[in-house]
Amino acid sequence: MSQKLSLCVLLLGVLSLNTPALAQEHSHSSSSHDSHSDHDASDSNATHGTPSAHVHGEAHLTMAVDVQSLVMELEVPLDSLVGFEHKPTNDTETKALAQAHDLLAKADALFKLNEAAECILTSAEIDMPSFEAGAHADVDAEYQYQCDAPERISSLEVSLFQSFERIEVLKTIYLSDDKQLAATLTPDNTAFALR
Ligand SMILES: [Zn+2]
Repeated sequence: MSQKLSLCVLLLGVLSLNTPALAQEHSHSSSSHDSHSDHDASDSNATHGTPSAHVHGEAHLTMAVDVQSLVMELEVPLDSLVGFEHKPTNDTETKALAQAHDLLAKADALFKLNEAAECILTSAEIDMPSFEAGAHADVDAEYQYQCDAPERISSLEVSLFQSFERIEVLKTIYLSDDKQLAATLTPDNTAFALR
């Protein structure tokens, strides 16, 4: 009997050794609401832990499947959405920002998963930038899906390029229990094969 127990312990040890550390550090130092603008350029030494390089024309999409939940995280330089990255200075720019936000919120028009996977969008969260003087700005979007047949996920069709012509490249990563796939999508190559 004690033999059986020690086998279990051994197995556990092996399992925990083999578990890949998927933990990604997502340090989001939120420098919140600087509403008063006494300019003091002393905050330039803050090294932000940016998850991916900020390149105009280049967006990033990470898809992660866990059981029946699919989370898609999109990161786009604001320039690639509206053509500027400063705080809006007139009505046209304010409208452009609102329009970009609304387009991003309609995930079903931007991303189509193959129907057999039966994925339904359950939430879309669009994080517009808080503008800092002289800094670049990114927009982050997080889409959550509930999939009834996640094992049948086989393709993603992206229409992002039609809504935002300044996006030239979408670097895409797909992660699940048994798969890690990557693709570089462009206006001429909008389908990501997920098998
Ligand atoms: Zn920029």
